Amino acid sequence: MLYSEVASKYAALEAISGRNEMTSVLAELLRETPRDELALLVYLTQGKLRPDYEGVELGLAEKLALRALSSASGVPQDKVYAAYVKHGDLGTAAEDLLRNRGQGTLFNEGLTLRRVYDTLLRTAKQSGSGSVETKLRGVASLLNDASPLEARFIMRTVTGELRLGVADYTVLDAAAEAFLGGKGARADIERAYNVHPDLGFVVESVASKGMKGIEAITVEVGVPIRPMLAERLSSAADIVRKMGDKAVTAEYKLDGERLQIHRDGDVVELFSRRLEVITSHYPDAADLVKKHVSAKRAILEAEVVAINEDTGEYLPFQELMHRRRKHGVDQAIADYPVALNFFDMLLVGKSDLTGKPYTFRRKKLVEAVEETERTRLVPAKTTSAPAEIEAYMEEAIENGCEGLVVKDPASTYRAGAREFAWIKLKREYRSELTDTMDLAIIGAFHGRGRRAGTYGTYLLGTFDGRRSVFTSVAKVGTGFSDEDLEKLPKLLKPFESHVRPPGVESNMVPDVWFRPHVVIEIIAAELTLSPIHTAAIGRIRPGAGISLRFPKFTGKVRDDKSPEDSTSVEEIVAMYNRQTKKIG
Ligand code: ATP
Repeated sequence: MLYSEVASKYAALEAISGRNEMTSVLAELLRETPRDELALLVYLTQGKLRPDYEGVELGLAEKLALRALSSASGVPQDKVYAAYVKHGDLGTAAEDLLRNRGQGTLFNEGLTLRRVYDTLLRTAKQSGSGSVETKLRGVASLLNDASPLEARFIMRTVTGELRLGVADYTVLDAAAEAFLGGKGARADIERAYNVHPDLGFVVESVASKGMKGIEAITVEVGVPIRPMLAERLSSAADIVRKMGDKAVTAEYKLDGERLQIHRDGDVVELFSRRLEVITSHYPDAADLVKKHVSAKRAILEAEVVAINEDTGEYLPFQELMHRRRKHGVDQAIADYPVALNFFDMLLVGKSDLTGKPYTFRRKKLVEAVEETERTRLVPAKTTSAPAEIEAYMEEAIENGCEGLVVKDPASTYRAGAREFAWIKLKREYRSELTDTMDLAIIGAFHGRGRRAGTYGTYLLGTFDGRRSVFTSVAKVGTGFSDEDLEKLPKLLKPFESHVRPPGVESNMVPDVWFRPHVVIEIIAAELTLSPIHTAAIGRIRPGAGISLRFPKFTGKVRDDKSPEDSTSVEEIVAMYNRQTKKIG
């Protein structure tokens, strides 16, 4: 397939904002794509090369992309930079520069979807010495042979800024429309995607085997499942009512890192909450699984928490973060020992447990885990009395936990869903404080006084999944230690952007923009309507967004969350509504 066909569809998609229309255009594109290139097309459309969990990152730094463009267009770098600033977008800048390239080649045959994909994949996999030059040559060669329109999308793809506004679920709808003649089976396709979150694979399965292909997709050792998430409510009474006035199971909500553990005999792979492979951070945890889990083939979930070795007590999350490192792992293992706290089991042997109720999964978990100082079952209590739950929460907090996760005993494991089958209960819900939020840094303002020379405040964004954009929600300047003030700019540096990154909506203009990447945890006094911020704009009142009052950094950088996992606009609207209900 020619890349020009893809590029012209991308241009059409960009001009559409309605979801139905977007779905039909995408469906058409899927239908036109040869079967053996479908997966490639799907990854590229999402600005990716492989499913997220494989960790293949494209993101070419802005500087390098500018150099590649300069080399392909024959325009000196300073002029390329000027064009970039003028356009505010590398894609249209490239399009403009190549249009004036003056080689007289109006269109170019030969640039195929496969060549674009293969070149980008090769580029992404380059590392080590000399890789910069190789990457540069790869991208420049594509741009050389690209038409101006193709260059627009190639450029945005290599810099990680291709945001066509196509949500993953829209791709699934389009696949249903293209290959199943309608959306009837949407729930099943979604289920397949949530247990096997490889969009290319799922679309290919629909295309080649229809619903049979979808039904055949099950939980598999080695392929991470999108985690089930919890809703929030502010009292035990509300939770029991919500779950239907019956006995529920309250579990300690431990304050560590979520691990999805995949075991096949002696091979243990650990996935993070955002489905990255993090086995190398916790080789000790992998050993614990081999020693103390009797099931040889299994998928388990556990919260890994730093502990005090002498007392067995849980330590705060900050201690655990010392374990997120590439070098000096052995020393870190000795300095910051951890315990695995198992709370779910999704597969054992050949049985997929995700369709079984919580009580059954917990029973299997109890059978499989040998309890030791380092391998524990998350403490749980089943009751229908709200007072007992409240008391259990106090006990959990006393023992170093954040609160409780209350679970509906009848609930199945709903991969990728945030529903009321699991409900968080924390103490701060009962004061005027809202829950903590995880927000993406989208910009920063230079500091003054003590903060001269570094950033004084950060602009934060929340993800609007319906439109696949980041909207501004607050400016935060408090809660940062000197160490944070030094560390954050370094973390953010690679994502610096001279213009407002595509897919970021903000009326406030910071001194420096960042592509959404770094996620931090924020606590705030309350949510208010805001004439400036764009989060949930118009959802509560026309023209007004929602923002945070007195936001404060908690000290946690949530590198276990991707920016798309940050607290969503939907959650913020729900929190706002809950808050006004309480005040009202
Ligand atoms: P938070 O920021 O509060 O951790 P989150 O967005 O990461 O929330 P939620 O679904 O809101 O995820 O809360 C569930 C999280 O709590 C899980 O991701 C897991 O890391 C952690 N957790 C701790 N104890 C438990 C437990 N017993 N059962 C389920 N999750 C638990």
